[in-house]
Amino acid sequence: MIPENEPSFRESVDIMFNRAVALMDLPPGLEEKIRVCNATYTVRFGVRLRGKIQTFTGYRSVHSEHMEPVKGGIRYATGVNQDEVEALAALMTYKCALVEAPFGGSKGGLCIDPREYDEHELEQITRRFAYELIKRDMINPAQNVPAPDMGTGEREMAWIADQYKRMNTTDINGVACVTGKPTNGGGIQGRTEATGRGVQYALHAFFRDAEGMKKAGLEGTLDGKRVVVQGLGNVGYHAAKFLSEEDGCVVTAIIERDGALHNEDGLDVEAVHQWITKHGTIKGFPDAQMQEEGAKLLEADCDILIPAALEGVINLGNADRVKAPLIIEAANGPVTAGADEILCRKGKVMIPDMYANAGGVTVSYFEWVKNLSHIRFGRMQRRQEEMRHQLVVDELERLSADSGIGWQLSPNFKEKYLRGAGELELVRSGLDDTMQTAYQSMAHVWHNREDVNDLRTAAYLVSIEKVAASYRAKGL
Ligand code: NAD
Repeated sequence: MIPENEPSFRESVDIMFNRAVALMDLPPGLEEKIRVCNATYTVRFGVRLRGKIQTFTGYRSVHSEHMEPVKGGIRYATGVNQDEVEALAALMTYKCALVEAPFGGSKGGLCIDPREYDEHELEQITRRFAYELIKRDMINPAQNVPAPDMGTGEREMAWIADQYKRMNTTDINGVACVTGKPTNGGGIQGRTEATGRGVQYALHAFFRDAEGMKKAGLEGTLDGKRVVVQGLGNVGYHAAKFLSEEDGCVVTAIIERDGALHNEDGLDVEAVHQWITKHGTIKGFPDAQMQEEGAKLLEADCDILIPAALEGVINLGNADRVKAPLIIEAANGPVTAGADEILCRKGKVMIPDMYANAGGVTVSYFEWVKNLSHIRFGRMQRRQEEMRHQLVVDELERLSADSGIGWQLSPNFKEKYLRGAGELELVRSGLDDTMQTAYQSMAHVWHNREDVNDLRTAAYLVSIEKVAASYRAKGL
């Protein structure tokens, strides 16, 4: 995907890292310690399928163990390789530090096109891959906790959790060995939508930042802003759906692997999603023009560009032609280091991946905590909270009646005020708070340091400082 004259994905991450540490004053050697990937395990295993043994190659990379467990998704894609998992593991370290999720960074991948296998075959392959990682403690609630990524979802996570429990029957915290599980299998409400929801909250935070908006040359609210999204998978679908249905954005183009749909009046994201689910392609979708060379629409005129598919899609080959003033990196590494320089020079604002897609790991953190505490969030407090609110409402109504004023609380207010928060509300509130706090820490650096001209460098500075502080606290 990344043109040959450009650095690899991992080198791109290192270049961006180096750019940031050049502005820091780290003790000798610590910079190198933070940058390097601690270990990458490669596994090749065979599974008997369709009458013959097929050999698969998988990876699990651990970038930094300054905090444990380490955390990061497992990706199923044909392009998976060591360079890619190491780049993604490094991003996980910085991402977790930025949003204060107490994990080191890790990532895994399996070279496979999941669409070529049926469900039963995928289960066999996943369980065997998990077995190889579990027996080496590379999946373990205290040491290494995977999550979904491209090509995987709650189904695969449920198989992994079950495999771990089969191999560790007395581990009472076994279900915490992986996050992103289905809610009836130890998961948490709001995890599936979390990364897309986080993209939405990140944009809310950006649109509240008057100085940032000015730097991007944008005005007003999200309402009516024209959005182009690449990849209508888990992340892209949820982000586009929430932005169009809740914030009034107009999704003018959806780029998928088999082309792009374009409609200046706006696409119905839910309808496109259902079409893809039913037909396996965007082709034939009514109410839109079809563009065969989908990636061309990354260069479309719009307000917000959301690459939510894969890395390296904005590179030296097309960066010059990107028109969107604001790019929010829902995918990991969609902008190469070379493209980043070009876009910064052109005054484009990029909300960097390590922040923009951190919603997934944030809610994964909540799920892990829920699993370790063995209780659903809100279960102890909810009724108590409702009773206290009822007391206030009763007292207000009594005062109003006794004083003869005759005020009435509106039924809508009463209903909202009286309802104690359930798990989903708590998850969304925790996610919103996390995204706002992390945005403010980045924006503070972006707007106040003269040597920092972009959000990505600011994000690296904040996160590397946190990783360094944790190494210093350990005495390393
Ligand atoms: P997914 O597999 O659910 O969806 C990926 C989508 O991109 C699919 O619809 C696929 O058809 C499309 N796609 C693939 N190749 C494409 C191409 N060349 N052009 C256009 N579209 C293409 O994956 P996902 O979980 O949504 O992950 C997407 C990105 O977000 C990845 O970079 C991933 O690392 C990142 N991410 C995911 C999560 C998560 O919670 N799932 C969390 C953080 C970051």
